[in-house]
Amino acid sequence: MFAKVVLILGGNRGDREELINLAVKYISEKNHFVSGSAIYETQAWGNVAKGNFLNQVIQIETSVSPQKLLEQTQEIEDKLGRKRTEIWGDRTMDIDILYFGDEVIRTPNLTIPHQLMHDRRFVLVPLVDILPDMIHPIFGKSNRILLEECTDPCEVVVFKGK
Ligand code: ADP
Ligand code: MG
Repeated sequence: MFAKVVLILGGNRGDREELINLAVKYISEKNHFVSGSAIYETQAWGNVAKGNFLNQVIQIETSVSPQKLLEQTQEIEDKLGRKRTEIWGDRTMDIDILYFGDEVIRTPNLTIPHQLMHDRRFVLVPLVDILPDMIHPIFGKSNRILLEECTDPCEVVVFKGK
């Protein structure tokens, strides 16, 4: 059985585009890559010391469980985090599971669909690139509608097209 899974990748430190490309490569070594959004840049608001984030949403097919996939993605975060040279806490790579098919999961270390995805333009904009009509299993609304209804003021601009 292969589950259709949607991930968001991103970071604001190091060579952000290269780190996203490496994360996609490592994820694809263990799962089947289906499609990826453009890479978007999210302007940092308020705190000027923080660099802007780059984000990409990808769809994969996996044969492993949600927990096992989380282990895989955390391993990849660690691997890419080792390239970090800064001493402060900004991240080189964050990988979050947005959807795992239409499963609803609520455990202490895993919430799927991702708890804050519908409040974040930097998630919804790339998501709508590749899966506008996919229905959120809790809200019963498409990703396109969630983006239309999202009130997050953050600016999300294309950094590199598909
Ligand atoms: P965040 O992504 O919220 O900024 P972290 O990447 O440090 O923060 O993740 C914190 C914890 O979130 C992880 O240890 C993980 O167990 C948990 N978590 C819960 N739901 C998810 C999900 N859908 N995808 C990824 N991590 C998740
Ligand atoms: Mg995370």
